[in-house]
Order: sequence, then structure tokens, then C-alpha cells
Amino acid sequence: MGTHAMKIAVLPGDGIGPEIVTEAVKVLQVLGLDIEFEQALVGGAAYDVTGEPLPAVTLELAKAADAILFGAVGGPKYDSLPRPKRPEQALLGLRKELNLFANLRPAIVYPELAEASSVKTEIVAGLDILILRELTGDIYFGQPRGIRTNESGDREGFDTMRYSEPEIRRIAHSGFRAAMKRGRKLCSVDKANVLETSQFWRDVVIAVGKEYPEVELSHMYVDNAAMQLIRNPKQFDVIVTGNMFGDILSDEASMLTGSIGMLPSASLDASGKGMYEPIHGSAPDIAGQGVANPLATILSAAMMLRYSLNQDAAAERIEAAVKKVLAQGFRTPDIYQSGARKVGTQEMGEAVLAALKG
Ligand code: NAD
Repeated sequence: MGTHAMKIAVLPGDGIGPEIVTEAVKVLQVLGLDIEFEQALVGGAAYDVTGEPLPAVTLELAKAADAILFGAVGGPKYDSLPRPKRPEQALLGLRKELNLFANLRPAIVYPELAEASSVKTEIVAGLDILILRELTGDIYFGQPRGIRTNESGDREGFDTMRYSEPEIRRIAHSGFRAAMKRGRKLCSVDKANVLETSQFWRDVVIAVGKEYPEVELSHMYVDNAAMQLIRNPKQFDVIVTGNMFGDILSDEASMLTGSIGMLPSASLDASGKGMYEPIHGSAPDIAGQGVANPLATILSAAMMLRYSLNQDAAAERIEAAVKKVLAQGFRTPDIYQSGARKVGTQEMGEAVLAALKG
């Protein structure tokens, strides 16, 4: 370990955010690592106090930290605010200001929870794949875009799909680096048979791949990838793709697992600094009841240790502890099956702590 403490910015946010983040911080605290935590307001909670969803002090804290642990933002109370004041703007602001262009979403199916999937158990049991989505480019941001009247006098909508070489290179590097930490297989997903942008994407990924001879690189068209994710998802290790294809495929992959309360995510910059959060939202329907599943956030903390803090062994300890509590039968209501031990947020957190110590 280095001589200076690792600094983690803790941004709990709204709804169930504070409940689940509290459990994840407790887990990080028992690992015996030199970590300093500093908490700040974000989202609706920040708006209530400061009038801004992403106050300058919160952004500064996030910038100064080695990594950010984020809960969730949003709630019905804020839905009628003008767009710049909405809680979700905090997420967009953090991604933009911190240059978080690589979104990592693992889809893991624990054997005990395989029946929650809408796909046949034998197809998903034991699944462990990672989808890496480029987050700041592509047709979502390409200019020009708009709605206009064309030369025939008809109104039309148009967007521009665009990826520059540096944008592709950096997400490709993230993909190869992630593959090196896992099963050393990378599948790049594109639509190179139809799109120029995709043909260029493929060429650049192949060029970057020369620097990672240990990683087995393959390519797949996005329509086939959508099919293969349902047909035989275990064929994949890491998938890397652009913003729009990744948007769709990562949601598809999350459904393979069937349990939104279990899925972590990370958004990284070029140096590996990142923001870590569950994929779910602030769940206003169950906020304050102590029943939210904290495991997605605890697993996000494990990703933080692996991808930003270079503490792979500690990440594996957390992941093993989560597997253990599931095997022991602990279940929050969202993943409850009859015969299991139904627990609340705090008891689930304590079960993970006990598994870490045991
Ligand atoms: P949601 O993910 O908050 O909830 C969807 C359903 O899943 C709800 O029934 C909820 O109770 C359940 N759920 C979610 N997380 C759970 C957990 N950890 N344990 C148990 N059950 C859980 O999505 P939504 O209802 O569409 O959105 C609610 C609010 O969250 C909105 O304001 C939305 O904008 C916001 N949101 C924020 C983020 C984020 O902060 N990254 C992401 C998505 C939605």
C-alpha cells in the first residue's frame, strides 16, 4: 500500500441512497485498508439545502478524491423542477466534469438467485460477464443534430453518429485492461457491416489490441450480440461497445440476472479514477423502510477497490462474502424466496461484515 491514505468521496444522495451507502461504507471500513471517507450532499438532498443538485463543494470533493461512492438520486418531490435543478443533473455533471467515459456494468448471476432470471436457469446460472459502454460520445452527442425541413419540404429529425480515434482508443484500452483483470477475452460489438463509424471503430480496436497480446479479441455485430446475450451469454467475458449499443445491451444483460438490487456499476476516466454506484435508482417506494438491498452498493465498493484503488484481493474478499451470505440464505425482500432468511438493509450489511470476519 502507498504511503498516503486512499480518499473516497461518499455521495449518498436520495431515497434509499443513504441507507445502502451506509452499509457499503461499513464494509469498506473493516478491510484494514488506509481509507479516508468524506461525505457530501448530492441530488435532491443537495438541492434542498443549497438550491443546486451538484453544489461546487461536492464537485470539488469528487475531483480531489481517488474514487467516488455514489448512492442514487431523484424522487417524485423533484420531478417538477426545471431540468438544470433536477437531481439527475448531478450524475450528468459528475460524468462530464470528471471525464468518466467508460461505464462498466457486470452482469453476474449467483447460483442461488438464478431462478429470478427471465431466462432459463441453466443458461444464466453462474454467469459473470462485464459490459463496457462508452459514455460520452456517439450519436447521443454528435453534431449536427436537430429537426428541420428538408429539400422536399418535409420535416425530418437527424442525428450524427461520430467517434474520433482518441475516443475509440481510450475505451478500447479500458476494455483490454478490464479483460486483463478477468478472463482475458474481449468482444467488441459494432455494426461494421453497415456503419462507417463502426468500421472505423473496429479498425482502431484491432490496432489497440496489438498492445494486449494476452487478450483474445473478437468482434460481433450488435444484432447478433443482442441475440447471443440471450442464447448463450456465458460465451462472453468482457464486451466493449459504443454509447448507443451499450445503452441497450447493458440493460438487456441486467435482465439476465433478474435482480436490480444486486447489480453494481462503475464509470471510469482515462487514469482509472471512477465513480461507483448501483445500477438501480433511489427507489422512493421503499425509501426509509430499511428494506432496500444494499448488495449492489457493496459490490460497487468491491469494483472500486479493483478498478480505482488497485486492491484486487480486498475486492475478492467482498465478493466472496456476498456469495457466502447468499449461500447462507440471507435475502432482502426484493430477492426473497420462501424458505430463505428475510432480512432488512442493515441486517444484510451485518451479514456481509460477519462473512468478512469469519
Ligand atoms: P428504481 O431503480 O429506483 O426502482 C425500480 C424498482 O426497483 C422499485 O420498485 C424499487 O423499489 C426497486 N429497487 C430498486 N433498487 C432496489 C434495492 N436496492 N433494493 C430493493 N428494491 C430496489 O427506478 P425508478 O423507480 O424508475 O426511479 C426512481 C427514482 O430514481 C427516479 O427519481 C429516477 O429518476 C431515479 N433514478 C436514479 C438513478 C441513479 O441515481 N443512478 C438511476 C435510475 C433512476
